[in-house]
Amino acid sequence: MDIKNFRPESLMMSYGYNPEWSEGAIKCPIFQTSTFVFKKAEEGKAFFEVAYGLREQEKNEELGLIYSRLNNPDLEILEDRLTLWDGAEACAVFESGMSAISTVFLENLKPGDVVLYSAPIYGGTNHFIQHILTKYGIESLSFEATQSEEEILQKISDHDYQDRLKMVYLETPANPTNDLIDIEMCANIAKHFNTEDKEVLTVVDNTYLGPIWQHPLKHGADLVVYSATKYIGGHSDVIAGAVLGNKAQIAKIKGMRTFLGNMAGPWTGWLLLRSLETLKIRMEEQARNAQKVADYLLNHPKVQRVGYLGHLKEGDAQYETFMKQCSSPGAMVSVEIEGGEAEAFKFLNSLKLIKLAVSLGSTESLAQHPATMTHADVSPEDKEKFGIKENLIRLSIGVENPEDLIWDIEQALK
Ligand SMILES: *Cc1c(COP(=O)(O)O)cnc(C)c1O
Repeated sequence: MDIKNFRPESLMMSYGYNPEWSEGAIKCPIFQTSTFVFKKAEEGKAFFEVAYGLREQEKNEELGLIYSRLNNPDLEILEDRLTLWDGAEACAVFESGMSAISTVFLENLKPGDVVLYSAPIYGGTNHFIQHILTKYGIESLSFEATQSEEEILQKISDHDYQDRLKMVYLETPANPTNDLIDIEMCANIAKHFNTEDKEVLTVVDNTYLGPIWQHPLKHGADLVVYSATKYIGGHSDVIAGAVLGNKAQIAKIKGMRTFLGNMAGPWTGWLLLRSLETLKIRMEEQARNAQKVADYLLNHPKVQRVGYLGHLKEGDAQYETFMKQCSSPGAMVSVEIEGGEAEAFKFLNSLKLIKLAVSLGSTESLAQHPATMTHADVSPEDKEKFGIKENLIRLSIGVENPEDLIWDIEQALK
């Protein structure tokens, strides 16, 4: 049987690794090494020619192992496995989600370029666009989930950015509001501004629903980025990131990674290989639990509003986008409770099982207060605009027993 016919979850224990390489060890060992011995000087020369693009690669010639800033077996096997979920040609892993995101920007943008991005967006990404890219003369323009393709195109021409637009960057669902953005629409906007000597890239931060429930490359995106710290890692014990796309794009990004030196190390690679084996069952259980928690919250007298994709109904503005590009509502629930900051804090301080911490996607359930924590430096006007209210709590649901989670929330609300 062709190995390509197996589903990704069937291949997470074996794909890309041959036990014969390591004394028959069923699991890929940790290649805790900085450098690799060449068989002969000629081999070292050939590897470097490929690494530095000094000649055309022979058919089926892969980059040989040289030095762990360029490549390492734990990283390469992890990258191969990660491509399976998104149906990508290639992948590059990084030491954090932010290093994956910043490397995508630095490789693909130059002074004078403009990046169009969705708001609200992850705080670190927002900071990088607003305060770091601007130092290099790269400008930006934001749009919101509620805006149509026509409105966004108008906005670009109002700013006279048609010729300088180089990237459309979006995050969907958005954090912490769960607002959805149509990936295909963004890819169309990017294509609208393609010219013979300028390709406008569509990049999607898929941390919230990927890699199981949303596959942006299938909706026209060029690159997908992840904070692998979240669902992919899934145990709150590692910081990592990933970028996926076609071979040519990922080769360029790996080139930049080699010189920034922000690749993940072998230990991070090994931890993520281990995490990938249970990725699907973890995420499915988390989604089932989130559905139960969200349904419970909906009818609670101390709850004003529940933000959960599973409650979208036919006729809701975002329902069609949800049906088109998401295969599950995921495991993130936002909830507005009666009162303001004081009541929200009292709730958070009363939780006994759910942990009070930022981050998401892990086996344990987490709760936090976006207005004063993850989104503390969002301006008051933007908080108002995006619905980041004083009484808003963001929950990331884990794999605990759902009745215990509901018990905990019930007693904290009381
Ligand atoms: C956490 C997160 C990031 C940043 O990832 P790190 O691994 O913390 O660097 C980027 N985007 C989203 C949506 C995130 O949740």
